Amino acid sequence: MTEHEQVHPTPEEVGAYYDLMGPFYATLWGDNIHVGYWTGPDDTSSNVEAQDRLTDLLISKVGLTPGQTLLDVGCGVGRPAVRLSQQTGAAVVGITVSADQVARATALAERSGVADRVRFQRADAMALPFNDASFDAVWAFESLLHMPDRAHVLREVWRVLRPGGRFILTDVTEERSLSAEQRALLYGSFLLRSLETIERYPMLVTATGFIVDDVIDISAQTKRTLQYVSDALTEKRETIRTLYGAELLATLEQVWPILATIQRDYLGYIVLAAHKPLSSAL
Ligand code: SAH
Repeated sequence: MTEHEQVHPTPEEVGAYYDLMGPFYATLWGDNIHVGYWTGPDDTSSNVEAQDRLTDLLISKVGLTPGQTLLDVGCGVGRPAVRLSQQTGAAVVGITVSADQVARATALAERSGVADRVRFQRADAMALPFNDASFDAVWAFESLLHMPDRAHVLREVWRVLRPGGRFILTDVTEERSLSAEQRALLYGSFLLRSLETIERYPMLVTATGFIVDDVIDISAQTKRTLQYVSDALTEKRETIRTLYGAELLATLEQVWPILATIQRDYLGYIVLAAHKPLSSAL
């Protein structure tokens, strides 16, 4: 393998990555594993506040009511699912490829008093273990970037969503072309499989049969995220050293400032809202 050859992580490898990095994310990001949304230069929100603000944007787009059920594709450690359930009264089934995340998310739902309607299980989005038309809504919140085939996952989402149901996705996008070296560092650090552009995304979603209702470019609002984590790594370096040892700490300290500049200069972020039409030929 040449130095910059691209890796193609399997869902199993992504699951093992999140099992390993669970304590890292818990220490530096908390119970959300997605970008923050800052309203502007004067916004002094913490990372958690900014991350919850993005979850609230998705909750407003998905429009669920009590008794309805959302499928959360790539649920992380469950904070977005729990928040959605608390705010709307809806039920959630969350899936992840990481056993550690299932355990953390289940514990969070129990602590938050919503375990009766929010549950998590290990499953691969490439082959969803659910019946056709069994969910009122689906979201894929910053998870498609790890998956082997976006178009295939979109077809799976389409299949399990009831006609008329909403589908919301968010994703990191590549707005300026990365060099081979930058791509290898970024993909290797997060076990990414591929990145799309904001411009191409709507076509990808309509190709499945969805009607796209809204495309929101929030690239500018998310730019502080990786710098925030990079700074937090400096503050929490003793905790990370205890968890992972001096060698991995040294690697993380070298890599994170570079990841932060890659986000700032090359990456974007899309929120896309769509729905499955009530009747269609597809
Ligand atoms: N949506 C969560 C977590 C985002 S991190 C949040 O906002 O906090 C990415 C998530 O995608 C992880 O939970 C990971 O396990 C999941 N994921 C990656 N590939 C997957 C696949 N093939 N099937 C199901 N989940 C997957």
